[in-house]
Amino acid sequence: MNPNHNGHATKKAPALDSGDTIERLMRPYYVQLAKLAFDDANADHGLGVAFDLDNPYVQTAIDHLAKQVRNVTETTKQQIADMTGRAAAEGWSTEQLARQIRQLGVDMSRSRSLTIARTESASGYTQGSISAYQASGVVSGTTWLMGPDSCAICQALDGSTADLGGEFADGISGPPAHPRCTCVLVPIIAE
Ligand SMILES: [Zn+2]
Repeated sequence: MNPNHNGHATKKAPALDSGDTIERLMRPYYVQLAKLAFDDANADHGLGVAFDLDNPYVQTAIDHLAKQVRNVTETTKQQIADMTGRAAAEGWSTEQLARQIRQLGVDMSRSRSLTIARTESASGYTQGSISAYQASGVVSGTTWLMGPDSCAICQALDGSTADLGGEFADGISGPPAHPRCTCVLVPIIAE
């Protein structure tokens, strides 16, 4: 008999299962991050774009993030010991997100859940920014702006440009370039 009081069947929690669970959990945060990125695009760059969950750019960004999260959970296995630092996207707590991941019963350490929360926050913010720039219709590309105390990887990327949604280096379409990356993308606004 299943002894769980919540009525759900007890099952093993292999890595793939965790991926599914995290993906479901993360979706609302991606929406929140996309909204935040839109707000910043307006406040910091005067783009005047209204956030709309039905906007195809926003939908594409969120779907992309949800698919990518599986790879992230694999990657972060090797990075558990290597995290502190970034307070994720401005405005909400990664500590809180990490706690929620663990409360779902996903079998992972505190540090791993924090790494996922931070990496996903940075990815979500970048994808949200790109969709805001696309929705604005006046942004032709982005410039990589390195964060404080950036590592050699990010120093090399600093100031480089890419077409909107394009890559800065092989496989790198925006921050985070690594788990504690604090870089952001700045829009290149067409004259
Ligand atoms: Zn960086």
